[in-house]
Amino acid sequence: MRQFLKLLFRNQLAAFGAVVLGFILVLALLVPVLPLQDPDVTATGDRFLRPFSEGHLLGTDHLGRDLLSRLLWGTRLSLAVGIAAAVIAATIGSAIGIIAGYFGGRTDNLIMRGVDMLMAFPYILLALAIVAALGPGLMNALIAVAAVNIPFFARNIRGVTVSLAGREFIDAARLAGMGHVRIILTEILPNVLPIIVIAMSTTVGWMILETAGLSFLGLGSQPPQADLGSMLGEARDAMITAPHTSIVPGVMIFLIVMSVNLLGDGVRDALDPRLKSGALSRPQAKTLVERKGAVPPATDDLLSIQDLETQFHVGKRVYRAVNKVSLSVKPGECLGVIGESGSGKSVTALSVMGLVASPPGVIAGGAVRLEGEDLLDVSYEKLRQKRGEKVAYIFQDPLATLHPLYRVGDQLAEAIQCHHKVSDAKARERALELLKAVRIPNAESRLKNYPHEMSGGMRQRVGIAMAMANDPDVIIADEPTTALDVTVQAQILALLDDLRRERGLAIIFITHDFGVVAQLCDRVAVMYAGRIVEQGPTNAVLDAPAHPYTKRLIACVPELGGGRRELAAIPGLPPVVDKLPEGCAFAPRCQKAREECQKGEIGLEGAAPRKVRCLYPEEAV
Ligand code: ADP
Ligand code: MG
Repeated sequence: MRQFLKLLFRNQLAAFGAVVLGFILVLALLVPVLPLQDPDVTATGDRFLRPFSEGHLLGTDHLGRDLLSRLLWGTRLSLAVGIAAAVIAATIGSAIGIIAGYFGGRTDNLIMRGVDMLMAFPYILLALAIVAALGPGLMNALIAVAAVNIPFFARNIRGVTVSLAGREFIDAARLAGMGHVRIILTEILPNVLPIIVIAMSTTVGWMILETAGLSFLGLGSQPPQADLGSMLGEARDAMITAPHTSIVPGVMIFLIVMSVNLLGDGVRDALDPRLKSGALSRPQAKTLVERKGAVPPATDDLLSIQDLETQFHVGKRVYRAVNKVSLSVKPGECLGVIGESGSGKSVTALSVMGLVASPPGVIAGGAVRLEGEDLLDVSYEKLRQKRGEKVAYIFQDPLATLHPLYRVGDQLAEAIQCHHKVSDAKARERALELLKAVRIPNAESRLKNYPHEMSGGMRQRVGIAMAMANDPDVIIADEPTTALDVTVQAQILALLDDLRRERGLAIIFITHDFGVVAQLCDRVAVMYAGRIVEQGPTNAVLDAPAHPYTKRLIACVPELGGGRRELAAIPGLPPVVDKLPEGCAFAPRCQKAREECQKGEIGLEGAAPRKVRCLYPEEAV
C-alpha cells in the first residue's frame, strides 16, 4: 500500500488531481456543518448579485439564492449521485462479467448478447429513454446512468475473467473440490478487483458528467434542489447578462472531472506492475546510441563486437549490464558465450541488432561491426533490412516467439517475404525446404500445424528454420536448448553444427552450460557481471581453466559415471550491476581473493586467443 501511494504521488499530475479532489470531497462532506445560508431561500430583491457582494461571496442567482451555498450543496449531491452510480454499475456489471466469463458457453452467449443489445444504443439516448420511462427525478437519473454503464463493466470484466478461467490455478482449485461460488470469490475476484477499481476510477468522472447532463435537461434533480447540472440549466437564460451564475457551477464540474480523471490515470499506472519499470512506455525502434569516446577501428572479422557498453538508465541509476565486451566470429565459426543468469549475455546479443529496449537501454560505447560496417551508426531502415537477413536470432522459448494464432507454414513464409518479394507459392515451397532442412518429419503436413500442436523440440526446430529463412551470415542463439530435454538438446545441437558446416554460418551460442559449449563451440568467452573474464579455444579453456569462476562453472557440470564426486555449486550470487564493486566483480565469492583483487581495474591479459581477467589465475595463459 505504501509503495502504491509512493508510486501514485511520484506522478505529479495524479498528485495534483488527488489534492484537488480531496479538497472538494472534504468540502462536500463538511457542507452540513459549514455556516452557509439556506440554499433554497429566495430573495427577489437580491437577484443576480455579482460575486464578492456583501453577504454573498459568489453572488446570487436569478431567484436571489446564495450561489456559494447552492454550489456546495450541489457539489455534494452531484458527487454522491455520480459515485453511487459508479459503484452500482461496477458491482452489477462486474458480477455479470464474471458469471459470463467463468461459466462460458451458452450462459456467456445469452448474457453477453443481452449486454450487446444495451450497448447498441447511444449512451445518452438510452439514459434519456430510461428516465422518460421512469419519470424525471434524481433517483431515476441515478438508475439511468448506472444502467447505461453496466455493459462497459460487464464487457471489460468478462474479457479478463475468460482468460483467467482457463488458467491452471483455477483447475487446481477445481481439483481441490471447491464449488463455483468459492472459486469465483477466492480465486477470480481478487484477480479482477484491481481491474474493476481501475475501470471505476476512470469512469466515475463520466458518470458525474452524465448525471449533470440529465439534470441540465431537467430530468435529474427537481427544483428547488440544486445539483451542478440543474444549476447550469437554470443559469442558461442569464448566460450573457449574469455569466457568473453559469461559470460557478461550470468551473466546479471542470475541476471535479479533471481531478477525477488525473487521479484515475495515476491509479491505473500505479496498479499496473508493468508500468513501474517503464516497460510499457513504447520502446524506440532501435536501441539508443550515446557513445562517448572514440569508435574502435574496423577489423576483418565477419561480426565483431568491440568494447561494447550497454547500460540501463533507470531514474538516476545506471545498470552496466555490458561493460566493454569484445567478441568476434569468422564465417563457419561457433563462439560460445557462457555465464550465470544475469551476467549480461542476452543484453550483449540484443545490442548487436539494436534490439535492447530504449528506454531504459543505452549503448554508451564501443562498436558492432558486420563486415566492417558499424551497425551502431546506420539508420533504422538499414538496420531493419539486416535484421533476419544478415543476422538472425533464435531464442530460448519458441512458444513465446511463434505467433499462437498462425500456422507455422504461414509464419515461415512471412519471414521470407519480409525480405524478399516472392510469390506465396514460392514462399511456401521455400518454407517446406526449410522444415526439411531442420529435419522435421512429415514436413508437408507440419506446415499446416499451429505452434501448440507441436512438441517443444519441434517448435525449436521451427525457430531455427525461421532464423535460416533468409540465409543469414550470423545466427545468434540465446539459450536455444535450455527449455528442452537432453536428448532433444543433443539433436538440436547436432543440427546447428551441420548447418554451420554446410552453409558456412557463423554462430554465437549463448548458454549457461559448459557441457553444451564442449559439444558445439570452437571458442568460448566466459562472462561475469557484464564483463568477459576469460576467453580462448574451447579445449584449452576446458582443459585448463584459468579464472577461478570458469573453474567453478566447469565443476558445476555433472559427469555421468564420473564416480561419486560431490556436485559443486558456486556460493553467493552475482552482484547487481548498478553497484559493481571495485576490482574483480567475482572477488567476494572467490576463495583465492586477496586484498589487491578488490582494488582498481583488472585487465583482460594474455596472448591471443587465450586471455583471462585475474591477478592470480589458476593456470598461466
Ligand atoms: P543473461 O546473462 O542471463 O542473459 P541479461 O543479459 O538478460 O542476463 O541481463 C544482464 C543484466 O542486465 C542483469 O543484471 C539484468 O538485471 C540487467 N537488465 C536487463 N534488462 C534490464 C532492464 N530493462 N532494466 C534494468 N536492468 C536490466
Ligand atoms: Mg539471457
